[in-house]
Formats: sequence, C-alpha cells, structure tokens
Amino acid sequence: MTEPTKILLSETEIPKDWYNVIADLPFEMPPMLHPGKGSPVEPDDLAPIFPRALVEQELSTDRWVEIPQEVREVYGLWRPSPLCRARRLEKALGTPARIYYKWEGVSPPGSHKSNTSVPQAFYNKAEGVQRLATETGAGQWGSALAFACQLFDLACKVYMVKVSYDQKPYRRIMMETWGAECVPSPSPATEAGKRILAEDPDTSGSLGIAISEAVEDAVTHSDTKYSLGSVLNHVMLHQTVIGLETKKQLELVGHYPDVLIGCVGGGSNFAGLFLPFVADKVDGVAPELRIVCTEPTACPTLTRGPYAYDFGDTACSTPLLKMFTLGHAFVPPPLHAGGLRYHGMAPIICALVERGIVEAQAYDQIPAFAAGLQFARTEGFIPAPEPTHAIRAVIDEALACKEEGKAKTIVFSLSGHGHFDLGAYAAYLAGTLEEPQGCDALLKQALSCLPMVP
Ligand SMILES: *Cc1c(COP(=O)(O)O)cnc(C)c1O
Repeated sequence: MTEPTKILLSETEIPKDWYNVIADLPFEMPPMLHPGKGSPVEPDDLAPIFPRALVEQELSTDRWVEIPQEVREVYGLWRPSPLCRARRLEKALGTPARIYYKWEGVSPPGSHKSNTSVPQAFYNKAEGVQRLATETGAGQWGSALAFACQLFDLACKVYMVKVSYDQKPYRRIMMETWGAECVPSPSPATEAGKRILAEDPDTSGSLGIAISEAVEDAVTHSDTKYSLGSVLNHVMLHQTVIGLETKKQLELVGHYPDVLIGCVGGGSNFAGLFLPFVADKVDGVAPELRIVCTEPTACPTLTRGPYAYDFGDTACSTPLLKMFTLGHAFVPPPLHAGGLRYHGMAPIICALVERGIVEAQAYDQIPAFAAGLQFARTEGFIPAPEPTHAIRAVIDEALACKEEGKAKTIVFSLSGHGHFDLGAYAAYLAGTLEEPQGCDALLKQALSCLPMVP
C-alpha cells in the first residue's frame, strides 16, 4: 500500500505526559534572574504572576510531566493533529525529498497556541484564579487564550500590539466571540502604556510593551494572573505534544527526519516539534539530524542578536532571561508575521543554538510569502505569515536535494492557518507587499540599552 497523505493517530494516543528536555540536556541552563536582586529566581518570586503548578513546571527538571485528564479531554477536540505528506508540493518542485508537515492549524483558534493556553487556563482555574491578562502579537495567542478561558470559565483581558489590532480586526472579534476583552497596546489602561503613549503617541506597539501592560494588570488585580504564550520553559513543555505525536507518526511510515524546520517568534511551535528529537542528536542516536530555526530578517533575534541576559518586556519588569536578544527596547518595523516580532527567544532554544546543536536562518518577508503561496497552490492550506518563513527554508532545502539527487526526509511545523491574514496575501498578490526597512538603525539603538549583568 502506498503511504497515506495524512498520518493519523487515534484520540487514545494523545500523549499522557509532556516531555521536559531539561532532564536530558548535556549542560546546565543559565538560571532566570530576579530583575531587582540579580540572583536566580525563587518560586515565590513568580507566585504573584503565575499559579503554583506552572511555576513548578517552569523550574522543573523532571523528564516527564503528566498531562491532566481534563486537559487531554480538551486536546481531544483537535488532537492528535495530522502529520501530512506534502506530495503535491514535492511534485511541483521535482524533488526526491519527502516533505512532511505537522499541521497545527486544525485547532479551534487555528494555531498551535491552544496546546499551552488550555493547560494554563486549567491550572489557573484549579487554583482559584478568576481572570487572566495577557498580550498578543498577531492575535493568535490572544484568541487561543480567549478560547481556553471560555472553556474553563475564566475572564480574559488581552493587550494586542497596536499594528496588528489595526491590521487584523477579525482576530479581535474571535476573542470577543470567546468572551474576552481586547484592547490595542499601548493602552491608557496601564501606567506602562501611558508612559509609552506620552513618549510616542503614534507607536505601532511591540510584544515587549504589551507584556509590560499585561504583567502590570496581573500584579495590580488580586483575582488576576498573567499568562504567556511562548518563550518560557513551561510553554515549551506543553508544546511537546507536537513532537511526541510526530515521532509516533513518522514511525508508522518508517521514516526518521534528516531535517526539522520551523519558524521561531518566541520559539514555542518549533520547540514543540524538535525538543522530543533533540536527545537523539545529543546522545548520538541521530547525530546527522539538522534542526533549523527560521526567523524574519526584520526581527533577526537568533542570527544577529548577542547571547546575553535581558528583560522579557520593555518596562524591565520581568525576570532576566539568558537569550539571544535584540534588546528589550527593540520595536521591529511592522511586518505581517506579527507572531515573529519578539525581541527575545526561548532560553532553551538559545542555549541549543549557542552550542551549535540547532541552526538559525533569516528570511525576507517577500520570498517567504512566495513560498507560502506555492504551498497554498499545491497543498491547498493557506499558511499563516509566520510559518511561510519555514516553508521558504523547506522549499530551498528540497531544491538542494534535487540538485544533489538526495531523498532526504524534511519535516516542518505548519503552526497555523492564514485565514485572518488575507490582507497580507492581498498585498503580496497585488505586488504591493514591501520589505520592512530601518532594522539596522533600530537594532543599534536597542542593543545599546541591554542591562549590565555581571
Ligand atoms: C505565535 C505564532 C508563531 C510564533 O510563536 P512561537 O512561539 O515561535 O511558535 C508562529 N506561528 C503561528 C501560527 C503563531 O500563531
């Protein structure tokens, strides 16, 4: 029998545990530092903003963390997600490579983000929290959290980066449909927002600013906690359902990846895919495995940032994280992949890039969209702007396979659909999509204000 197009698992095969890569790393992770004291954070430092269960997961070194049954039941609405063979794309490219994509656009909010919003809402509810505050870039995280809060009966307030709030009204309506309140950031509702609006009333906003607002909201309301959609260890942990399922699905068809590719904003969708494979590379089971992070040239965190301690937000209120960073003051030029506009990156990914275990490549917006369009015209699904960066790398890799006559297995994370990003596709199709400009000057300025950490 020929290999199926969609490799499917049954609902009973939804993973029972998340995988914590920290247990298997051949090095110590640099600790998160307290922003005032400069010493490693203690669980009590995080307690005002996160529920106890998530703080434990954030600092955990256990290899496996059990997924609560209530969370697995909600996962059952869309998980296990399909692993698809991109045969029509392969044919169009004339490549001998096998291309697979793990399709996370099948969740109700349309991206991988509900893999973590659901457990985050669950643990908050279980500890008596009544309301969650968060930030969102392109709106995918805000809508994923709104969805999860609706299912677990929590109120939800979302600070949405202004440029995306204006570009993507339907994401806001989705959040409101799931009962959340969504405001453009910077907003006059917080001190952090007011300060930034006073300096620059026309700012397009940034994730760093929106995080400051959401954190402030959480610490100033006793019934409210903060929720983060990427970057932190517990988010990477939750996303490993992606890679755990993918490993099983590839086993069913008897293949192992030569290359794993994904786009990285804060790093969670791709970490979710590749972390369950990292131990194989480190242990020497699959030493040749390549793991490739893709990012936009307009927000080139891994390819141009230094590896340094920095704040997660613009107001310098979060703990310090050791990561590749463009500087917490970096506000990237507007680009359509709003989810890739963050100045920092998950410390786990950064530590792996620093050691050469994981690679990073940056792509311009227009060639990325060209790749997204080719994917849509062969495979049908319209990718979100973020994973078009991964698709660019996949197509280039598959074309290199054609040159070399090599039948590599390429697996990539298709993190979400682009149904609410059609404005960007319209611009691309009309030939009016532009490359964001001015990154160099912004970068130079932002890097000059990195915090001094001994
Ligand atoms: C948020 C988002 C991203 C970027 O965030 P990561 O944490 O790097 O995954 C990528 N793709 C989609 C569809 C997203 O919604």
